Amino acid sequence: MSDCIFCKIIAGDIPAIKIHEDEQCIAFLDIHPVNPGHTLIVPKEHHANFLETPKELVAVIMALGQKLSPAILKAVGSDSFNFSTNNGRAAGQLIAHTHFHLIPRFPADGHKMWHGSDEHQDFAAMATKIREAVGSGE
Ligand code: AMP
Ligand code: ZN
Repeated sequence: MSDCIFCKIIAGDIPAIKIHEDEQCIAFLDIHPVNPGHTLIVPKEHHANFLETPKELVAVIMALGQKLSPAILKAVGSDSFNFSTNNGRAAGQLIAHTHFHLIPRFPADGHKMWHGSDEHQDFAAMATKIREAVGSGE
């Protein structure tokens, strides 16, 4: 896709600090790292987000995450990491080309996960709604 920054990196039109490349994927350091070693794993084929990515390719990305994470952790001296994707604007997705963040974590790195709510929720009604949506293929 011509106006996609990650497609441009894949094409070699703009630079990136690559740590891995194969036929289907590329992995490079995030330009604004959350922590040292913050890596993006990106399929070469352009898909706008996780949901639009063929499941076979998702499996390839997951396998590459498993392969690269021990090396990244070794390089930065960490034993923990987050491996996740932001899907949609409200979730923080800025670049509309599927990518997974592999972020090494450290005990005192100051990054907090989001907090769960203690407020009453109608879990049964929510579960029914979701099951119905799954059942209808939505
Ligand atoms: P997201 O918010 O999930 O779409 O993540 C996009 C990520 O891409 C951000 O963490 C950015 O710092 C990173 N990023 C943007 N442009 C570049 C670039 N040219 N090279 C490396 N990482 C980039
Ligand atoms: Zn792209």
